[in-house]
Amino acid sequence: MRIFVPKEIFPGEKRVAVSPITVAKLVKLGVDVEVEQNLGASVNWPDSHYETAGARLSSSRRASLRGAELILRVRKPPFDEIDDLKAGGIHISLLDPFNEEKLVRHLAGAQVTAVSMEMIPRVTVAQPMDVLSSQANLVGYVSVILAANAVDRIFPMMTTAAGMIKPLRMFVIGVGVAGLQAIATGRRLGAWVEAFDTRPVVEEQVKSLGAKFVKLDLGETGETAGGYAKELTTEQLQRQRQLMADHVVSADVVITAAQVFGKKAPVIITSDLVQKMRPGSVVVDTAVETGGNVEGSMRDQEVTLNGVKIVGFANLASRVASHASEMYSNNLGAFVQYFWNRETKAFGLDLTHEILKACVVTHGGEIINQTILQTYAQATS
Ligand code: NAD
Repeated sequence: MRIFVPKEIFPGEKRVAVSPITVAKLVKLGVDVEVEQNLGASVNWPDSHYETAGARLSSSRRASLRGAELILRVRKPPFDEIDDLKAGGIHISLLDPFNEEKLVRHLAGAQVTAVSMEMIPRVTVAQPMDVLSSQANLVGYVSVILAANAVDRIFPMMTTAAGMIKPLRMFVIGVGVAGLQAIATGRRLGAWVEAFDTRPVVEEQVKSLGAKFVKLDLGETGETAGGYAKELTTEQLQRQRQLMADHVVSADVVITAAQVFGKKAPVIITSDLVQKMRPGSVVVDTAVETGGNVEGSMRDQEVTLNGVKIVGFANLASRVASHASEMYSNNLGAFVQYFWNRETKAFGLDLTHEILKACVVTHGGEIINQTILQTYAQATS
């Protein structure tokens, strides 16, 4: 089976889908790996390292896309490259299928088996393949580094001859993987941290990182069977904004990382509230790509409102592209390795397997993923 890894062409994307280390692992399995020339340039992985690992270099992206049985990449395929993919071939990438109905239908029409890495289930056996976690972890770290750069104070407490500096106050809203890493990073820098999430099970994790968990009574919240947050009702969200207001206003740094899987992010901080914050403080909205948790946050911009900076940069993981690529590549490698059939020397596409049932979106000319089919049906009804 031939695998091809094309260079990412999405504007600003510096991550690379496959590292030389992963190539070596795939080659050991018996895979014929081809990578586009300069694949690793954005993270300083030279072509020679890929060749040493056993990959062939391709100087014709189009010919290689047509010739490969399996494509690995970070971003969804560009629309105009889908017709270049082999009918019956497998395409593995982030796909954003909830928001990409046209693209997904095109993939189905082109007889491509498209895997959405976002939809790998959060079960123990799939942890090494979990790209959402590996990337969100880095997003949490970067969000705090951006905040530290933008805020007008330092994070740690300091006792000096010139006076005593109190630790910075940081409030983290949404304690999934990104939020937890934001707390850990803020604590390492010396901030006093508090955090809130609608899932009560998070309280212990917050406390174990030395932060305070803010308890708000929003009525029944809970989580889905898959461990994700349930969407709040309009009334609950309104109540959350009211009850949280004092914590936001007294913070020097607010990191928002609240998401509801497959849905638009909840708007948690309104402009009114931002205007009550101390001028010089900072809000980093890590949910800007899914609509934003902060009213007025703008994709890829730093907006100032009444002296408060609202940082809305997208694709934070790409700002630490080297580690993000290493982690993403390990996830892809684990996925291919897990389903690799050593006898047929091909990816074993067992569509009854719980992991593939969850993440394969198109196959045999159709959309076969039940979650995605339901989402598209609801959108048209
Ligand atoms: P996510 O990115 O979907 O959401 C981020 C956080 O936002 C979640 O904790 C969610 O509860 C919270 N949230 C939603 N609405 C909110 C609101 N109105 N106010 C405040 N917070 C709100 O989550 P994620 O980081 O992908 O993780 C989801 C869950 O999956 C977590 O429990 C995580 O620990 C778990 N997980 C399990 C595994 C596994 O293998 N078992 C692997 C990774 C993650």
